[in-house]
Amino acid sequence: MKFRAIRADKTDAGQDVRFVEMEDSELMDGDVTVRVTHSTVNYKDGLALSGKSAIIRRFPMVLGIDLAGVVETSAGTDFAPGDEVIVNGFGLSETHFGGYAEKARVKGDWLVRLPAGLTRAEAMAIGTAGYTAMLAVMAIERHGLTPASGPALVTGAAGGVGSTAVSLLADKGWTVIASTGRSSEAEYLKGLGASEIIERASLSAPGKPLGKEQWAAAVDSVGSQTLANVLAQTRYGGAVAACGLAGGIDLPATVAPFILRAVTLIGIDSVQCPMARRLEAWRRLASDLDREKLAAMTQTIPFNEAFEAGRRILKGETRGRLVVAIE
Ligand code: NDP
Repeated sequence: MKFRAIRADKTDAGQDVRFVEMEDSELMDGDVTVRVTHSTVNYKDGLALSGKSAIIRRFPMVLGIDLAGVVETSAGTDFAPGDEVIVNGFGLSETHFGGYAEKARVKGDWLVRLPAGLTRAEAMAIGTAGYTAMLAVMAIERHGLTPASGPALVTGAAGGVGSTAVSLLADKGWTVIASTGRSSEAEYLKGLGASEIIERASLSAPGKPLGKEQWAAAVDSVGSQTLANVLAQTRYGGAVAACGLAGGIDLPATVAPFILRAVTLIGIDSVQCPMARRLEAWRRLASDLDREKLAAMTQTIPFNEAFEAGRRILKGETRGRLVVAIE
């Protein structure tokens, strides 16, 4: 049976990324075949869809770093036909065919069973961005920080990681400061639970090695000068979870916050995150994430609008999360 997919092929000119028809026989090795019903557009998907990034490490490649669907066949795994499953990362869209396809064949070890209380569409409304936000919140908690420690800052707040982090932290009782470049999203961010909105520009210009102590914790989607300034304004003993690079991959920082204020910089990786921590993150998302807020931060698009959504996310024009309805 033929199925539709967005595939990147290597050409002399670079990459050719487009909709194609594929056959089951073209799927990569794996022990579980999944009928994909939903995927998402994350920032990384935007990069891959652009046909200009180094995300894809093997050609041809089916794009899409997230998928949710229903198991069709399974060999030697705990999963059975009809089971509802999620995959985030594990090389999807990099080294293994991903979720922008009506069908996927993956390793059983990569599958997360759809948590009770979440629909497949909701799981993809969360997607890699939301699950990364939860990994960041869990890292801050592991550091021993609580709402009593002081406020939490979220940068890139109106994006996917940012919106989910604002919602999760606010509902856990944190006073959330949301940094955004879009003042038009202030009401949206307050609706998710932000107490204070600050201008992205206040963090993006070169700053001092140490600034006034402001927040006890931070979830940063932006990187670069913003992350350096976030560290410089973190309170004594605080922690910053570095998730992203929407503002750049560099980190023009000094060691001052680490050696003078005992600040901790915590790296967050969603792609190879061990299964036990993934399961904990998804369990927490299913129990903690407010469904009305999730709906408020989510837009669902048809499969054929994925390219346009990819262009918009790279320009910072999308709000919250984008679900791609594959079927
Ligand atoms: P989004 O595009 O949805 O969110 C990024 C947000 O960052 C934007 O909405 C915007 O927020 C802000 N932003 C955009 N461009 C700039 C800029 N030039 N300077 C400063 N701020 C900017 O992306 P995602 O939420 O999907 O991903 C966020 C980041 O996290 C990405 O870099 C992504 O690659 C990374 N990521 C990393 C993961 C990991 O495993 N570590 C997993 C998932 C994502 P606003 O308008 O509010 O300022």
